[in-house]
Amino acid sequence: MSNNITIAIAGNPNSGKTTLFNAITGSRQHVGNYPGVTVEKKEGKFKYEGKEIKVIDLPGTYSLSPYSIEEIVTRNFIIEEKPDVIIDVIDASNLERNLYLALQFIELEIPLLLVFNMMDFATSQGYKINIKLIEKLLDTPVVTAIASKGEGIEYVIKSALSLAKNKKKARGNMIKYSKEIDKYINILSNFLSSNNVTEGRYSGRWLAIKLLEKDTEITGEIKKHKLSEEIMAKVSEAREDIKKFFNEEPENIISDRRYG
Ligand code: GDP
Ligand code: MG
Repeated sequence: MSNNITIAIAGNPNSGKTTLFNAITGSRQHVGNYPGVTVEKKEGKFKYEGKEIKVIDLPGTYSLSPYSIEEIVTRNFIIEEKPDVIIDVIDASNLERNLYLALQFIELEIPLLLVFNMMDFATSQGYKINIKLIEKLLDTPVVTAIASKGEGIEYVIKSALSLAKNKKKARGNMIKYSKEIDKYINILSNFLSSNNVTEGRYSGRWLAIKLLEKDTEITGEIKKHKLSEEIMAKVSEAREDIKKFFNEEPENIISDRRYG
């Protein structure tokens, strides 16, 4: 493991990201803006077992679509800066909404730690969460915390650093959409991966899904690629087929299934 490690904290707004960030970094923080945009960028550093750890508090997002500056900043940071670990802070009292974003991080196939925060709130609401089962279903490590009380912080740090060390990445194929859609995700992602279209920046699977969803930014980028004609022909064919099969726009089905 290198001596410099970068941890990025992401998640829905109000899930406790900044509280966790403060708990992890203490007072050694620096606040600025992302280049070119007025979205606050908080950076902090701390030393841990002889290593210099940099922590970034990413803007809060509900999704990784290109519809808000926060979403674009977050996903570009993850794709371009390649942090060693992403901590996705999840409001455990609102799992349905928060896991929607988590699934998209899983599809990016990055080293991912899910922190189920607000466990005090979830418990007082009567929720009993089977952490082990969720961990197994998503094949991604899950730890719990009450960031506002400083509970679980040490274990969050240990788990994040252990992920940085073993470089274990989330596996996107854990998430199934439906036979018809998965077929096209596989065809497309195999094509994209075997032609190294993402140049190792992110997973072919994520790119395939983004293209099927007609993500404007990603589609615009792919249109500049030397294989763009072939790629876009495959995407059109897949979208047409999916549309015929479900009688609905592919992006709507994908989003519905993700919630499911
Ligand atoms: P962010 O938008 O994700 O950065 O969320 P913040 O860190 O600003 O937290 C939002 C609110 O939730 C603040 O009032 C925090 O004090 C509170 N909060 C953070 N973590 C917890 C927690 O584990 N339990 C409870 N009950 N409140 C928390
Ligand atoms: Mg915040």
